[in-house]
Amino acid sequence: MNYLKKLPMRTIAQALQRQQCAAFSEGVGMLPLTFLTEDEKMMKETVAKLAKETIAPLVKKMDEEHQFDQSVVDAVFQNGLMGMEIDTELGGSGCNFFTTILVVEELSKVDPAVAAFVDIHNTLVNSLMMKVGTKEQKEKYLPKLAQEYAGSFALTEPSSGSDAFSLKTIAKKDGNDYVINGTKMWISNSDVAGVFLVFANAKPEAGYKGITTFIVDRDTPGLSVGKKEDKLGIRASGTCMVNFDNVRVPEENILGEFGKGYQYAAGFLNEGRIGIGAQMIGCAQGCFDATIPYLMDRKQFGQEIYNFQSMQHQIATVATEIEAARLLTYNAARLQEQGRPFLKEAAMAKYYASEVAQRATIKCIDWMGGVGFTRDFPQEKFYRDVKIGAIYEGTTNMQLSTIAKVIKKEYSS
Ligand SMILES: Cc1cc2nc3c(=O)[nH]c(=O)nc-3n(C[C@H](O)[C@H](O)[C@H](O)COP(=O)(O)OP(=O)(O)OC[C@H]3O[C@@H](n4cnc5c(N)ncnc54)[C@H](O)[C@@H]3O)c2cc1C
Repeated sequence: MNYLKKLPMRTIAQALQRQQCAAFSEGVGMLPLTFLTEDEKMMKETVAKLAKETIAPLVKKMDEEHQFDQSVVDAVFQNGLMGMEIDTELGGSGCNFFTTILVVEELSKVDPAVAAFVDIHNTLVNSLMMKVGTKEQKEKYLPKLAQEYAGSFALTEPSSGSDAFSLKTIAKKDGNDYVINGTKMWISNSDVAGVFLVFANAKPEAGYKGITTFIVDRDTPGLSVGKKEDKLGIRASGTCMVNFDNVRVPEENILGEFGKGYQYAAGFLNEGRIGIGAQMIGCAQGCFDATIPYLMDRKQFGQEIYNFQSMQHQIATVATEIEAARLLTYNAARLQEQGRPFLKEAAMAKYYASEVAQRATIKCIDWMGGVGFTRDFPQEKFYRDVKIGAIYEGTTNMQLSTIAKVIKKEYSS
């Protein structure tokens, strides 16, 4: 059943609009909108149901086999989750950014790997194509991204990670074409992606201002995808090297403006970080939800483990931290959709949610005792999966540097 498509997406957008206008007229500063509209609640429940019924039975198998089950891939496409913000006229679900964040959180409660697949595709690939693509590019690619294939965001290279704009991939002009040479590393969804948004320097003498984004179809001669990395967590999500050996693309495959690639990468990764915040909250909450009933059931010293005060204080601390991370993330998402500055808030959300998720999953394993250390229970997978939050889309150190940079600017002006 197509759960998402049954929902009145336009209504959600309108409700949010009303909510934001009210907040503006009240002169609210940070807008910590803790409540969800009825439509948003319905969306959360709908995706939670989909995750529970379709994804949950396959999570362990997919983690062990290191790949998604085709039925899960089909389900996320068929339910509109791969075209969250794409216009309905182009085959998408016509939702807003906040709704995408809710979807990522709900999927992550069940499988953070599926959440990564959906999140990166929506918040990095679709968003960039939607916001800077030409009419022709949008009409050609967005319907396929919504309904047919995943996309990859190819920025990182073997020698440029945190220092992302020191990339070595080059795009050389040749007639009306560009010829791309270089290697990208750690590219999510690249095992199955139908299209790659590739950051290459088309004018190296201009330094990072030569970095340009190219749309490259998977079947372009010279593009090859390496083997999947054997990862600690989110194992079902495919992460591979992608090699470009004289890959020729026409000039019309430049996405957005020539030389603006660094701006796009920086800008869209800021948005993407809110998605990683949501993924981390989902991991933490999913692990917590799987743990509490066990603590209320398991007895030691003649009473339920949950009843020991030292346990209750730890549980209360973790629950509070998850809620704080959620508020930071939701707040950053609201600011993004209102077109207000969110650089610091997005970095705070990703940094804090990643830390909280690590602490929460470690605690859940502690509370479960020996059984938490086995693969028979989901806690150990959540524990492995959360580690990625502090690494991709900018490490924790890079988030802290961003936060400090913005604070300095605020205090200097
Ligand atoms: C599973 C996975 C999926 C990914 N998906 C994608 C993708 O789809 N597309 C893509 O383009 N990339 C992707 N990446 C790449 C990811 O964004 C990078 O791994 C990340 O930015 C860190 O780069 P690095 O691994 O080279 O680490 P490095 O940059 O080598 O960092 C190593 C350590 O040094 C620290 N460090 C580096 N510079 C500084 C500094 N100036 N100050 C303080 N500390 C510093 C870092 O914080 C880190 O702790 C993915 C990575 C993984 C693991």
